[in-house]
Amino acid sequence: MSQGNGASASAIDDVIARALRELDLDEKVELLTGAAAFSLHGTEAIGLRPMIFSDGPTGVRGSEFVGGKKVALFPNATLLAQAWDEAAAERVGEMLAGEGRAQDVDVVLGPTVNLHRSPLGGRLFEAYAEDPLLSGRLAAAYIRGIQRYGIGACVKHYVANESETQRRTVNARVSEAALRELYLLPFEICVADAHPWTIMAAYNNVNDVPATEQDELNNGVLKSEWAWDGLLMSDWGATKTAAPAANGGLDLVMPGPRGPWGDQLVAAARSGAVAEATIDDHLVRLLRLAGRVGALDGIPAARTAEVGPLAPADSPAMRLSLRNLASAGMVLLKGQDILPLQDSLITDDSPLVLIGRHALETSLQGGGSASVRPPHQISIADGLTEALGEDRVRALDGVVVRSNPTAAAPESIIDPQTGRPGMRITSFDGSGAEQASSNSEVAEFVLGLSSGPHEGASVVELSAELVAPPGTPLLVGVRGVGEWTLSYGDETYAFATTLLPGDSAEVGFMVPPSWTHVVEVAPGRILVARLAISERISLAGLVVQPVPTSDEQLITEAALAARDAATAVVVVGMTAEQETEAVDKKMLALPGRQDDLVRAVAEAARHTVVVINSATPVLMPWLDQVDAVLWAGLPGQEGGHAIADVLLGKAEPTGRLVTTCPVADGDGPAWNVTPQDGALDYAEGTRVGYRGWYGADVEPAFWFGGGLGWGVWDYRSAEQVRSDDGVAVAVVLANTADRTSREVVQVYWRPEGAAPVRLVGYAIADEVVPGETRTVTVTCDPRAFRLWDEAASGWVTPSGGTLLVARGLGDIRIEVQRS
Ligand code: BGC
Repeated sequence: MSQGNGASASAIDDVIARALRELDLDEKVELLTGAAAFSLHGTEAIGLRPMIFSDGPTGVRGSEFVGGKKVALFPNATLLAQAWDEAAAERVGEMLAGEGRAQDVDVVLGPTVNLHRSPLGGRLFEAYAEDPLLSGRLAAAYIRGIQRYGIGACVKHYVANESETQRRTVNARVSEAALRELYLLPFEICVADAHPWTIMAAYNNVNDVPATEQDELNNGVLKSEWAWDGLLMSDWGATKTAAPAANGGLDLVMPGPRGPWGDQLVAAARSGAVAEATIDDHLVRLLRLAGRVGALDGIPAARTAEVGPLAPADSPAMRLSLRNLASAGMVLLKGQDILPLQDSLITDDSPLVLIGRHALETSLQGGGSASVRPPHQISIADGLTEALGEDRVRALDGVVVRSNPTAAAPESIIDPQTGRPGMRITSFDGSGAEQASSNSEVAEFVLGLSSGPHEGASVVELSAELVAPPGTPLLVGVRGVGEWTLSYGDETYAFATTLLPGDSAEVGFMVPPSWTHVVEVAPGRILVARLAISERISLAGLVVQPVPTSDEQLITEAALAARDAATAVVVVGMTAEQETEAVDKKMLALPGRQDDLVRAVAEAARHTVVVINSATPVLMPWLDQVDAVLWAGLPGQEGGHAIADVLLGKAEPTGRLVTTCPVADGDGPAWNVTPQDGALDYAEGTRVGYRGWYGADVEPAFWFGGGLGWGVWDYRSAEQVRSDDGVAVAVVLANTADRTSREVVQVYWRPEGAAPVRLVGYAIADEVVPGETRTVTVTCDPRAFRLWDEAASGWVTPSGGTLLVARGLGDIRIEVQRS
């Protein structure tokens, strides 16, 4: 893999040798903790400049948690994975490298290869799939795409980090076989196939030992057995100790400048609790990274390609790529006979009726550290209106989908000082003196995560004028935890917002509570909110919204509109309140009264199409009552255009599910994500996702690997053939539909004996025209045929078993005995 040419490698070795010789212990240790939230220390002594990191994985956010630079928002990882397309994943990596280069970022904190273990996991949207082979191969392609340009990738979170409840302390109890065959496998594939320059150690414990102190997994498996020579950094704030973490294989503590290493690690080294050779190894790995990304004086980055002209986030080229990436991953679950919508279903006399809060405010991304600030956000209403024209779309709001409102839109408020869109932030220090004052277009900001002018303030005041005609009632309020006062004219309210018991501190800035109140807009009046800062990291935001219409009224209006139309499209889904870092879901039922809305529309309309706007499973109790269901994922900044392309037939929804969808809450092999006494048992062992659903009594609603598209596939034959790498299966299939289509041909292996069935290979049959018969050779990955023998602590590779050629295990087309 790309590690730079020989000349650079030896130049890096020279710097490393000099550093080990010339830096004293304090200087070495200082380099092993970050300098700030997203940057490292440099030192002139060895020509090392500070390296810059940025989240990842669905856009390169930069160093501000909110309100930073406007950057491209990609479709979320699960939607990308649904295309089962390694070439596309590699292109995404290349595009992200361009985004990184534009911001002088050295390492992008992605991809995320934790698995979709329980559908309740809040952060699944950042991760690819429930299957480790698919996750690992897509991630490897993404890493190759990024690192080709001399920017490092960071595979996260190592390891067994599949849910968020008690995320910083949870002890994941996982069998050795499940670790090897499932949770470690995507990391192993990344290391072997793409040589990532960095990996991130997770917050959780694995079998009683913190991931940041895992001698066995870090030094043993990762660095020795897999011979990985990269840098292992901690997740943000995950390092708990000095000596155990340094000895346990962690190379770098993030973020900085404070943390548990520094003086304590120096003391541990002086006392002999940590060998100086261990410190040196961490430093060597850090400097190797520096050499690779071009952070050492005079040593060019280890790139094998030059980033072409940068495509800004709102450039036509970037927009088109993001739009096509999004539509390619969408999955048609039902309704081949009605989609794409024919012209006869949408006329000037009978416009398309589009219903739902998600139609107007489409969820384009999940919440937490992966979120970015895009240049624009194309809702489904925007996309369909642009495609069809205003007269042929009638968009209606739907029921409430969030429990806490989002921050005010920039156009709904004005900074009283400058008259510009957005709010004024004024901070005060401990003595009450004004510390800083600035304008912010985004109506919320986070203190404690960067080095801005308001950092360290004791009180923060947000102020704005409301943009609405005098007399308009508006819902105003705040977002963020703490003691607040809010005033508008003569009215002042004092209140406190709090977290729920058991919520981790990050909930306060990732899924913050809110407080709201209705006021009447008066000319010249200023809305002023003051927050006393009590947490180390605090979010402060303003809420300004129209006063909501009742759900009952919205459902009635939707049904009336649907009755008059040839076609109603209802958009339902989840928001960043459910699909977010820091909290898990409690259930998969759609939030609020969205199910009632779908039922009311389905009863009234001639044709009902449901678009699901969420990354991971939701329940569909109305499935039999609707004509079509399109799974649109979290489609990124161009989402509304991509969905319009699919609904109107400009693009095929070529996606296949990457996670199994249950019929009801509680179904499936792994459900619970709440630790008992601090421990979360991965009791299902190796039977995760489809591996556990297969052969069980309860059927899922939709299988991993399922999805329709425009084609109808006749699988004619399959036979095992040899390939250079081992097993391959030649599959002959025909598209019997009257539309050109793309199929993802999947091969699973059902071993003899008790081990669960598993995906072993997949290949794409692209552009298969109507009536065409195509032969596709699926090369199976030898790593997927290994089983972990716990007694012998090693791999075994049994022969035999059956190869299943299947459109997901609910639709097995051909079985071949494996020879
Ligand atoms: C997340 C990481 C992220 C880091 C930096 C952590 O809370 O778990 O995925 O890269 O923050 O934002």
